[in-house]
Amino acid sequence: MKYYSTNGKVSGISLEEAVVKGLASDKGLFMPDVIKALPQSFFDEIDKLSFQEIAYRVADAFFGEDVDAESLKKIVYDTLSFDVPLVKVEENIYSLELFHGPTLAFKDVGARFMSRLLGYFIRKENKGGLVNVLVATSGDTGSAVANGFLGVDGIRVFVLYPKGKVSKIQECQFTTLGKNITAIEVDGTFDDCQRLVKSAFMDDELNAKMKLTSANSINVARFLPQAFYYFYGYAQLKRLGLADNSVICVPSGNFGNITAGLFGKRMGLPVKRFIAANNKNDIFYQYLLTGVYSPRPSVATLANAMDVGDPSNFARVLDLYGNSHSAICAEISGCTYNDEQIAATIKECHRTTGYILDPHGACGYQALKDGLKPGETGIFLETAHPAKFLEKVEAILGTKIEIPQKLQEFMKGTKQSVDMTKEFTDFKAFLLTKA
Ligand SMILES: *Cc1c(COP(=O)(O)O)cnc(C)c1O
Repeated sequence: MKYYSTNGKVSGISLEEAVVKGLASDKGLFMPDVIKALPQSFFDEIDKLSFQEIAYRVADAFFGEDVDAESLKKIVYDTLSFDVPLVKVEENIYSLELFHGPTLAFKDVGARFMSRLLGYFIRKENKGGLVNVLVATSGDTGSAVANGFLGVDGIRVFVLYPKGKVSKIQECQFTTLGKNITAIEVDGTFDDCQRLVKSAFMDDELNAKMKLTSANSINVARFLPQAFYYFYGYAQLKRLGLADNSVICVPSGNFGNITAGLFGKRMGLPVKRFIAANNKNDIFYQYLLTGVYSPRPSVATLANAMDVGDPSNFARVLDLYGNSHSAICAEISGCTYNDEQIAATIKECHRTTGYILDPHGACGYQALKDGLKPGETGIFLETAHPAKFLEKVEAILGTKIEIPQKLQEFMKGTKQSVDMTKEFTDFKAFLLTKA
């Protein structure tokens, strides 16, 4: 499969190059030349297949030409070492729980797949030497990437994070791992971390002495695997005999997650329509209303992983629908919730159903409450475990919530990190000691 750029100046790129580069040289996002439809027989029997079997069929459509079957199967099966159960919240509304992976958020799926695919390419080339993944994080990405790459041969990960600006729970998820993961605590902001990473990629001396790559969320190897669980969610709904009129609602920030679902629909997944739930950063919602895309600086909300003012994957949505506003509106609707509404939803859902939502999933749940039509069954993606936002959710509910065992294990670990100034010369000197 070859990949082209949404900016139109780059095409014919191999999977390996697209994965290692992340972003196309014209600054566009990579798209596969073909989105293969899966056969009707697959959908007829999908409710009888396991998550891993379903995911392998989907992965084969994207990656089967570039990765041999046995290796691809192993990558998929290793990636999905946890379940994604569909849980009934109330009549017609189901939660697809994407938080059963190592860091309790959906980003585990893409990060685990990408790390294994990169490992595959490194071994295939057999050039020896280490590949160094640099990632700047404001919290969640760092933990998913670090845990995804933990113990993968041939890869070293450096996670840069702003000192004092990530929560304790987030911090322990990437500072306690050891092995091939190094956490770097930068005396600065998230933007400083991002600038250090970008400067490293542009530095000739560093690139001559060590192989550097990024694990950005727009990378096709992180983005496409997110389609897996849309098919599995549908399969579980079919097992319940409820798949005929299904609507999938996705709490959205950078729009990578929902775009993977839209790819799924293009492959034949019989979902009726999608809803993109926004918090106050409702750039996409406004686009649906007006046909005009107006990015603006993000504002901080309770659902902070959706605080995005210029969603990167909007370019992929436009490309997928041939830049047609009406085609987009025909398959996707939107909604927007402020912090008061998110808090009220968490409270009300808990009171009436006993289910504890996280602030992101709350937007998805409420969008179904407000937007489902008679006869439709809704699935919302529960993108993270509520305990990842412990203080906020406990304050809203006025009760303690249970911290999953996995999270407790992280919190027991010893923090190991390297102190760093925000000066590039210091960061470069540090990296050179590792070359
Ligand atoms: C990243 C994230 C989102 C937003 O996903 P996008 O793919 O950026 O739209 C939603 N919820 C949680 C918990 C996240 O970590």
